[in-house]
Amino acid sequence: MVQINRKLCVGCATCIPYCPVEAFKKEAEERKVYVDEEVCTNCYVCIRNNVCPVGAIEESNLDNFMKQFQHVISDPTVTSEGTGVPGRGTEEAKTNDVTGRYGRGEFGICIDMGRPGIGCRLRDAEKVAMAVAQAGVVLEGPETTPLATLMTDIKTGKLVDEALDTNVLSVIIEGKCPKEKLPDVLMALRRVEKEIETTFCLGIVSRAEQEEASFFFETLEKLGIPKPFRGKVNVGLGRPLIP
Ligand code: SF4
Ligand code: SF4
Repeated sequence: MVQINRKLCVGCATCIPYCPVEAFKKEAEERKVYVDEEVCTNCYVCIRNNVCPVGAIEESNLDNFMKQFQHVISDPTVTSEGTGVPGRGTEEAKTNDVTGRYGRGEFGICIDMGRPGIGCRLRDAEKVAMAVAQAGVVLEGPETTPLATLMTDIKTGKLVDEALDTNVLSVIIEGKCPKEKLPDVLMALRRVEKEIETTFCLGIVSRAEQEEASFFFETLEKLGIPKPFRGKVNVGLGRPLIP
């Protein structure tokens, strides 16, 4: 984790604006800075950018599993052991034309929580994961997404209790649902967004087929959800593993 060497710190406050989640706090009396452990995500933005002019920001041991998890998921230069992918450890749906995780008649669901620079308590990630799982999303397992390593049950999205207060820079909930469940999933997200203290962006993924696209836009219209104005198309230059 990150700590301040009080003997070196001169209280210049240079570090404060660099922390994406405002974990640097000023001491009231001595005017030095300390790291609020409850808020720090162990993203190491401050360490990687060498922001302290006197070298007072120091790295110490990540001495428990949750701190290690925080670091892997919040620092894009660190590779997740589970998935072999850097940062939050997921390829999302970007490689679907090779992996075929989402087939015909299905929608991929990617819920990107805590961005930009807001952070996300895993308690909120659990609420969202459980809401969409109940609405029909089959969540991805630990081989593709690190959050699943903390789930006690992949079918419900429930996380282990000791994870719930952990703050991370951002986290992705991934899964897929059959086409007919998409309206329920969107409604579940509309309900749960009022119960959480952070933000999320929703990515809906399908194969580039007119039927799926039409169904998606019709569903949005029926539910009164504005159409997205941003999208990505993967042209599929990889060797497909799917039929
Ligand atoms: S930049 Fe370094 S010296 Fe200045 S307040 Fe932060 S930790 Fe202290
Ligand atoms: S590790 Fe990240 S969250 Fe913690 S103090 Fe440094 S910049 Fe802030």
